[in-house]
Amino acid sequence: MTSSPSVFREKLLAWAAAHPRPLPWKGVRDPYLIWLSEIILQQTRVEQGLPYFEKFAAQYPTIRQLADAPEEELFKLWEGLGYYARARNLHAAAKYVANELGGRFPDTYEGIRALKGVGDYTAAAIASFAWQLPHAVVDGNVYRVLSRVFGIGTPIDSPAGKREFAALAQTLLDPQRPDAFNQAMMDFGATHCLPRQPKCSRCPFSADCAALASDRVADLPVKSKSLVRKDRFFLYLVFKSGDSTYIRRREGKDIWQNLWEFPLIELPALPRGRAEIEACIGAFLDLAATPETWQLRGFTPPFRQTLTHQQIAAVFCEIDLLEKSQVVVNQKLANEGYQKNLFQNLKKNIALPRIIDWYLREKTVTYSLF
Ligand code: SF4
Repeated sequence: MTSSPSVFREKLLAWAAAHPRPLPWKGVRDPYLIWLSEIILQQTRVEQGLPYFEKFAAQYPTIRQLADAPEEELFKLWEGLGYYARARNLHAAAKYVANELGGRFPDTYEGIRALKGVGDYTAAAIASFAWQLPHAVVDGNVYRVLSRVFGIGTPIDSPAGKREFAALAQTLLDPQRPDAFNQAMMDFGATHCLPRQPKCSRCPFSADCAALASDRVADLPVKSKSLVRKDRFFLYLVFKSGDSTYIRRREGKDIWQNLWEFPLIELPALPRGRAEIEACIGAFLDLAATPETWQLRGFTPPFRQTLTHQQIAAVFCEIDLLEKSQVVVNQKLANEGYQKNLFQNLKKNIALPRIIDWYLREKTVTYSLF
């Protein structure tokens, strides 16, 4: 087993020196840009987050500019990154720093942790990278590395596990170089001690890794409960009224808050075919399909998106609104908060859920669901 914190540090930092991972925010000292990169990287792969960091840093070079940005513009820039609560929190925290703290980013762990959208991990990362404060980061990568090297089987999603791993990470942290140590831990977990196929044969810890010695690499870290995702089935109604369609902004506490979407019917299961879809649309409009009212032009196979706690399957139906019904439907949808919008504008200036964006890009309308 790895003998002491100093040996662990030495090996880890030597590995990091031999495996540089250049990223645009590395070596940056501006706490605003460090915070921006950390929020963008929450639940996001580096490759996916990188272009967003570059876009945000170019459009809003200071926290004041981010604070003053219109929300719709910020959401549009965030489009495709998912977890939109992050964008809302980013904006709220920027306004707080710009307006309440006179534009000075907090320089203590507690001050950083108090910002909206900043948890323990993000606060430790910002505090160490921006201010060299000795706070160890603990995330999925760190749980994996520590549970394997030290052979710890305490479930990482239990309160006892969280305490144990946080304390161990803090003991191992190099107090002289907390930024370099935290970065090395993150890089080692992300590129070397991988969830599947870790590079054990070329690992600096191979001689003293407890998991490798006891053939438990694939079993660590341990989780006490596996995530259960709720299945949801969406039927989106894409009305075609000339060059326009209807959309509205999602509100309430559900997913995709503040993003725009087509009229939606949520169903207990995927519809089984054309007749069922037509019945759903007729009930929604309170208007049966006739050669004068509306016609179902086609529908897509289900588009699927996995969120942290939900699995979404969405079928998009394209519906021609015929002249006679347009006034009635227009009135009904306007009463429910839907706005008429040109199709060509959908991609330009409003933020859409990723599943709608996929549909607009693919547009694979068929008459068969499976
Ligand atoms: S020996 Fe394998 S499991 Fe152990 S730290 Fe190295 S890569 Fe991870």
